[in-house]
Amino acid sequence: MLSSAWFTDWKEAQTNHYRQAAREYEDLYRLFMHGDLDEQLFRKRRAHFGAGPRPVAGRVLLRLTIPLGRLSPRQLRAAADLAERFTPGRHFHLTPRQNLHFYDVPLEDSPAFLHAAADAGFGLAPAAGDGPCNVVLPAGCGTLPGEAFDPSFAAALLQQRLAKDPALRDLPGPFKVGFWRSLYDEESEPGNDLSVVPARRRVGTRQVRGFRLLLAGGLGPNPRVEALWKSFVAPEELYAHVRAVALHFKERCQDSRPGLRLRDLLLAEGWPAFQEDLAQRVAEQAPDRKALFFHRLPLGLPQAATAALPSWLHGFAVPMPEPGTFLVKGQPLGGMLDVATALDLAGLIERYGQGELRVTPRQQLWIPGIGEPNLLAAFQELQRLGLAGSFLGSFCACPGSGLCPRAGLDTLALGQQVLDALKDGLGSELGRATAGLRLGASACGNGCGRHRSADLGFEACVVERQGRRETQVRVYARTPQRPELAALIGTVRPEQVPQLVRSLVEGYKGSDAPDLAGFLRLPEGYEGLRRAMAAVGARDS
Ligand code: SF4
Repeated sequence: MLSSAWFTDWKEAQTNHYRQAAREYEDLYRLFMHGDLDEQLFRKRRAHFGAGPRPVAGRVLLRLTIPLGRLSPRQLRAAADLAERFTPGRHFHLTPRQNLHFYDVPLEDSPAFLHAAADAGFGLAPAAGDGPCNVVLPAGCGTLPGEAFDPSFAAALLQQRLAKDPALRDLPGPFKVGFWRSLYDEESEPGNDLSVVPARRRVGTRQVRGFRLLLAGGLGPNPRVEALWKSFVAPEELYAHVRAVALHFKERCQDSRPGLRLRDLLLAEGWPAFQEDLAQRVAEQAPDRKALFFHRLPLGLPQAATAALPSWLHGFAVPMPEPGTFLVKGQPLGGMLDVATALDLAGLIERYGQGELRVTPRQQLWIPGIGEPNLLAAFQELQRLGLAGSFLGSFCACPGSGLCPRAGLDTLALGQQVLDALKDGLGSELGRATAGLRLGASACGNGCGRHRSADLGFEACVVERQGRRETQVRVYARTPQRPELAALIGTVRPEQVPQLVRSLVEGYKGSDAPDLAGFLRLPEGYEGLRRAMAAVGARDS
């Protein structure tokens, strides 16, 4: 757990930085209100502070970062308070980049909102291109076994460096950095411009810590899996490498089309030229002496204590290294939380947990440190809040048609239909069969619902048929030939999706696969999905 004095100092420094940013935003807002800044320039500059446009005049979308994806009960209450004060009756949204989105905040309230958010320790999340995106950190870091060492400190330092580096303002598009716990961790998500993976290496008789770096991935319309760039970088060299990539991206893409990603640049330049430029930039940077203390971090984590759990707890509770303690998982569909649920959740964490809630990159909520005697009570409370049931997979969804102007589909309604169809088809087998299953739904090709990294993904699209435009759903799955990213299988109408899921479940029940995720990754599962698509009259890819 991150409870050291170092982390306390880091949080304080971050909060001061966020407060400063909130003051700068207020100055900007006043300039605009006094007529000293024209509207177009105000819109452009406010995006750096996380204030985005909304279709409703006089309202803004305010984006906050959850530092390291971790919320204390106090912060959860503060988020609920922000929603209650500034967007009454609305949910707030936990995004896969560990941000919080508040929709339709009145513009005149935006300075007060950002001051309150900064006081609660939330960062102001620049819109894509206005600065590096929030550094995503897997929720299991430092808590579950399987990592070379806990990368939380490195993520914290990197987040701080990136946010304060004036050279990295005004990037030409999104620059996404994320940590993985290990190359083989189920929680690891492809799709970052730069992925950082803890690694260790033997030097003489010593094991030293470092990082493996992967480059130029992305989900969205042209997804690409990251390529290995460096197999080992010392901690004090990490920032130099990250900065080199960001500066290369900024300088080479400056005048190109908006929305360009690092992967497009890599494809255009070719790997040798790309690497040569990065090597030169790295050589120009000084080592980060603050990162030297990472060499003293403990290596690995003790194995989790084995615990004999009743079957209903499998997948919901994961044993932690400390005997008798568990990490429990909840899932708000699409990452949507309302005020009452957030407040109850904060109470639950205080009663049973260790004062921390972790938001995963697939919008799950993990509560570490729950003692065995409290597991049943925690489960029942999460169930009452609609955050736990017998579905044990993850369902990541973008906010959909109610909230995003680009959306062609109500992804949350679709998600609920898929979950209902799984429940109908699997009955009492639902928990076991859906353990580890990744579902994703995006209401357009931008892929914010991570459907391309799911076992089964849905993407809304609009097609022209006989002169009429209609919304359809593209269905994606990981194929045995290309398991890293889900590939397009075919297209169905939205109302056919539940039947498709039921047919898929029938195929799974007739197989020997241990669960649905396993079934979908087998050749027979892929064929089963294609048969299910044919059964509902899908159009082929
Ligand atoms: S996937 Fe498309 S519709 Fe959904 S939030 Fe992203 S941009 Fe909006």
